[in-house]
Amino acid sequence: MFNIILFGPPGSGKGTQSARLVEQYGLIHLSTGDLLRSEISRKTALGMEAKAIMDRGELVPDAVVVGMIASALDHNPMAKGFLFDGFPRTVAQSEALDNLLHQKKTSIGVVLAMQVSEEELVKRLLNRGLTSGRSDDNSEEVVRARIVEYHKKTSVVADYYRKFDKVVEIKGEGSVEEILLLLCSEIDKRLSN
Ligand code: ADP
Repeated sequence: MFNIILFGPPGSGKGTQSARLVEQYGLIHLSTGDLLRSEISRKTALGMEAKAIMDRGELVPDAVVVGMIASALDHNPMAKGFLFDGFPRTVAQSEALDNLLHQKKTSIGVVLAMQVSEEELVKRLLNRGLTSGRSDDNSEEVVRARIVEYHKKTSVVADYYRKFDKVVEIKGEGSVEEILLLLCSEIDKRLSN
């Protein structure tokens, strides 16, 4: 099993690249943002609680997202590997994920960390807001709050995995195809080892 974390700030292109990577490598895509939005569209209690938090640009509680990931791992016992997108977003989530993977006798193979400048992030997110229907992409205030949350709680996740020498930085500006090639070359290096 080969498991990947696609890491980076909101708007760094994780969703776009994930769609291509899961297809290319036959991985299961686990996006906590998508899982939460599915709860919201089904109007579950969890979804309603999460929506209020997401609309402020804050992180939903660790226990909520860790629970969703635990159940997704259990539901895919035959997976060739998982691609985590937008998760883990805190050190507590990283530790929980390591434990869950350990129980399944597997681990994270690589953390691909996408680097994009702050102004480019804001531009992309507001632009996406014009068509995505995502309420958290519509206001500059919420977009900036998400980036602040990223610096406060999420960027340390990269430091956590750096201790295990698992992080590779990828330049996340350029064409989708160029960035995909950079990501694939890092994955292929590790798969051939
Ligand atoms: P983006 O990367 O563009 O912010 P996501 O779809 O990954 O989009 O996340 C949207 C929102 O969902 C986040 O701002 C946050 O409120 C919530 N969320 C998603 N994943 C997590 C997570 N792992 N931990 C806490 N909150 C999360």
